Amino acid sequence: MNQKVFSQRLLEWYAVHKRDLPWRNTRNPYFIWLSEIILQQTRVAQGLPYFEKFAANYPNVQALAQAPEEDVMRLWQGLGYYSRARNLHACAKEIFENRESKFPETYTELLQLKGVGSYTAAAIASFAFGEAVAVVDGNVFRVLSRVFGLTAVSNSSKGKKLFEEFANKIIPLENPADFNQAIMEFGALQCTPKNPECNTCPISEACFAYQKGMVESLPIKSKKIKVKERYFQYAHILCGEYTVIKQRGGGDIWQGLFDFPLEELQLKEALQLESQFFADQDNYRTLNVIKNPYVFKHVLTHQKIFANFVKFVIEESEKPKLSAWVKNKGYQMVDQTQLESVAKPRLILKYLNDEK
Ligand code: SF4
Repeated sequence: MNQKVFSQRLLEWYAVHKRDLPWRNTRNPYFIWLSEIILQQTRVAQGLPYFEKFAANYPNVQALAQAPEEDVMRLWQGLGYYSRARNLHACAKEIFENRESKFPETYTELLQLKGVGSYTAAAIASFAFGEAVAVVDGNVFRVLSRVFGLTAVSNSSKGKKLFEEFANKIIPLENPADFNQAIMEFGALQCTPKNPECNTCPISEACFAYQKGMVESLPIKSKKIKVKERYFQYAHILCGEYTVIKQRGGGDIWQGLFDFPLEELQLKEALQLESQFFADQDNYRTLNVIKNPYVFKHVLTHQKIFANFVKFVIEESEKPKLSAWVKNKGYQMVDQTQLESVAKPRLILKYLNDEK
């Protein structure tokens, strides 16, 4: 298909079908950056309330940079991929401290920022500063692959590079921002991964995949990455109004977030049968031990977590002894208000909500 016609049809389609999203009505690089970081690996419907919360609490980069990290993590809670929140905060600080709160204005300079990859840099450069650089996400891969018959493997680094080069060749110089928005929106709403709306598509008569009956087979993707299964046995320990929690360290998922004492098991069948606290509980006068029969399944990109929670209700008079154990283990005892205020993985939130 002729690239000029493609871009013209796309822009006409966009003018009619575009969703009214808050980050589309601004050229402020801060809001554009914020929305792009929030929307990575996240659907618009899920990301939108987070964008609104962040924009309301931190209306500019200074406000975000000066916020305590716990507050940022807490606001991010439930969105997953927590390294994004840490990078978001670190990047805001860098812009505030070293760049007089001003975002760089070119794609190349934007790439220097922490947590800003080619996709986000292209989005900010084109949406805020009008630079003709293509934004290439999964939606764009799909549309380009189908319309132009590109057969490079879209989830390989080589394939990604080829798609980026192609997209940068066809992006119009006059209105790159609208073109980028339009192609992403077209991929999200019309040329969807499953059951695309080919019958009402304004591009269908020149679409390679549609004409060749290859809509289902494009884009080509290499086989899925193996997902690792992990088995978490949690001890939910309560003593009076206090709950035992621990902050997660680096080198694993959920860095810096708070969960409960945890034993990682080798076998799923061992859930509910083993826990580091099971052996220790005899040291305390225990009011109740509740074995939650439910195994929570929590799916991350490369991991599938099966988690079980056993609740130990310890007599209040045992608090000093329990506190010593908690201290020795590097855990913390928090009251209900503190428990609510710390940032927790979504799995823990799900469990606590089920508890209510
Ligand atoms: S015809 Fe179908 S596959 Fe081709 S661009 Fe339109 S929606 Fe996508």
